Amino acid sequence: MPFAVTHVLTAIIVIEFLREYLLKDKKNFPHYFIIIGGIASLLPDIDIILYYILYAFFKIPQEAIHRMLTHSLIWPAFFLIGAYYAYIKKNKKQLNLLIVITIGITLHIILDMITGYVVPLAPFSQQMFGLNLLPDSQIGRSITLGIDAIILIAWLIHEEVKHQISKFV
Ligand SMILES: [Zn+2]
Repeated sequence: MPFAVTHVLTAIIVIEFLREYLLKDKKNFPHYFIIIGGIASLLPDIDIILYYILYAFFKIPQEAIHRMLTHSLIWPAFFLIGAYYAYIKKNKKQLNLLIVITIGITLHIILDMITGYVVPLAPFSQQMFGLNLLPDSQIGRSITLGIDAIILIAWLIHEEVKHQISKFV
């Protein structure tokens, strides 16, 4: 199960790359949208807070809540519909923002699907999908920590090469 850091870093890196290398008109895509994308990538795990509350009162197990409704593809679809309306209204900034949120949430679901299982079609179907490459175990957590470190270092190298961040430290 990926840590919050993996989710945020993956979203920030993907969105920044898209902004940096694909987008020509950066005027309607301010830098802080990347941070919003990172925060959006954490949203599906809001069910962990819900789990703590429900467990405290009703002793409901984590498997009954986590990676279900909040990890459904209905959320990115919802923001994508919003993006479509922004596109029709020709509001480029709003369009970019909604796409960034869609990417953040979708990346979270994909990552969770690679490392474990999610219920992407909740509430319409309870079918679980996932490769479960990193089961929630001691080894799984160690590998996740290693992946975190590799992603972070790769991103720092990219930032150094591209923007020379060490000048600001
Ligand atoms: Zn998750």
